[in-house]
Amino acid sequence: MLGNMMFKPLLISSMIEHAGRYHADSLVISKNTDTTITETTWGKVHENSKRFANVLASFGLNFSDRIATIAWNNHRHLESWYAISGSGYVCHTINPRLFPEQLIFIINDASDRVILFDKTFLPLVKAVKPLLKSVEHYICLDAVDEAISQDFPEIKFYDELIAQQNANFDWPELDELSASSLCYTSGTTGNPKGVLYSHRSTVLHSYAISMPDSLNVSARDIMMPVVPMFHVNAWGTPYAAAMVGCTLVLPGPGLDGASLTQMIDQYQVSVALGVPTIWQGLINAAQQAGSKLESLTRNVVGGSACPPAMLKVFKEQFGCETIHAWGMTETSPLGSANQFKAKHQHLSDEEKLQVRLSQGRPPFGVDLRITDEENGTNEVTRDGETTGNLQIQGHWIINNYFGKTESALTSDGWFDTGDIATLNEDGFLKISDRSKDLIKSGGEWISSVDLENLAMGHPKIAMAAVIAATHPKWDERPILIAIKKPDVDLSDTEILDYYADKVAKWQVPDKVIFVDAIPLSGTGKMLKKDLREQFGSVLMDS
Ligand code: AMP
Repeated sequence: MLGNMMFKPLLISSMIEHAGRYHADSLVISKNTDTTITETTWGKVHENSKRFANVLASFGLNFSDRIATIAWNNHRHLESWYAISGSGYVCHTINPRLFPEQLIFIINDASDRVILFDKTFLPLVKAVKPLLKSVEHYICLDAVDEAISQDFPEIKFYDELIAQQNANFDWPELDELSASSLCYTSGTTGNPKGVLYSHRSTVLHSYAISMPDSLNVSARDIMMPVVPMFHVNAWGTPYAAAMVGCTLVLPGPGLDGASLTQMIDQYQVSVALGVPTIWQGLINAAQQAGSKLESLTRNVVGGSACPPAMLKVFKEQFGCETIHAWGMTETSPLGSANQFKAKHQHLSDEEKLQVRLSQGRPPFGVDLRITDEENGTNEVTRDGETTGNLQIQGHWIINNYFGKTESALTSDGWFDTGDIATLNEDGFLKISDRSKDLIKSGGEWISSVDLENLAMGHPKIAMAAVIAATHPKWDERPILIAIKKPDVDLSDTEILDYYADKVAKWQVPDKVIFVDAIPLSGTGKMLKKDLREQFGSVLMDS
């Protein structure tokens, strides 16, 4: 016997309908590419998304056609997302910091028929245009600009297109399993691969990330996703924001610490999300400006391990709880988030810090396990100590990559993340490394993340990466590549002495190299592959 309850498909359009109806006057504040600010509301975002849906309907596209966006976090980008997915097309967000060859590969691989882009990315779009095979419409997410039109006659302008349409549009009742959006993995090895999300996976993920033990967002929040909309859909926050009806602050291209401090203070942001490098910039800028970031009650750190020193600074200097979260493109992304259980509440500050260092536990809807081999099926004990290969399954986890028929899963249906980790009996996850970043010294594994975290706790170090350098005797040894804080005096022996009482002797890096900059990926992660290419043989040369 089936239950007698109504069936409504889980659709992205229902989230914007909800925000437009029940949170119509809640603000969406957006920094434009020319740094002016636009203040709009969920009501107007909903109306404009329907206008843009009418624009797309006039293009004669087919169900599930891909529409690319190359844009920062701003209100036009947000409106277009809802129009695209709500109408039954696939919203393909593209990272503008990719190499042009990768951009061309991705657009052709996805067979995008339309490209929407911020004006700042016009040179990029023009440069790759001759090599794009499927694109028929180019839309600049801005008001009409005659100078651009003369140079690029087929270009259309978003503001003009929506002004010509009315806001009457009935969102189609799609199958909830239909594709809704597409993100490519960063492709640090080989070509990037597409991850194709569905309406159902997106709605369920939005519920999960909003829950108190995840990001804990509600209609009383003012949320600022600093993580770009092209990085796993800004971790799903633009969807969750519509679902709960919170105020949304979109920082546009202003990702530097000073701009973020200003946005947080001016708009009283209560929760913000980003990668550790972004937070480091914010901390420095807020300290310089003498801001206490008073409205910020919590910030979410993910994308790379959160250095312990950062958790402490946020808590002690800014009164801000840091939620450490883990995920990846293939997992929508939330796989775990760190919130205390009742039994942790009475712990001392130091003990609480230890709990907070973990990447947290999975929300209902995903399941984690650690196996003793990559793509293996043999689970190891959940004792918080036994490391192995982290695998995941659940409602918003990949099944197969875009355009590929073969499964991306193990023989028993789990996705192997490529991360090395432990799980404890409560499911608290601790990532020790990417499997390819682990250092194998004389047969023993050394975690680059542990050594980096320690270095980041040194008062004179601004940023640190630990990589494996080839060694004639031990195969690999750790070396530390560090950026000093401005105007400090720091020697390599000072750092090595600092490590001496914190890790086993054989884990202390063999060498310290000071640099002015560490290469970062388009999503703000340290490019260790590039560092290995540059410094990987320094121990062989000496
Ligand atoms: P991406 O798909 O580009 O977001 O990259 C996902 C990868 O980032 C994961 O497989 C992890 O290696 C890493 N990552 C994400 N969040 C964390 C975290 N909180 N701590 C450590 N590594 C993380």
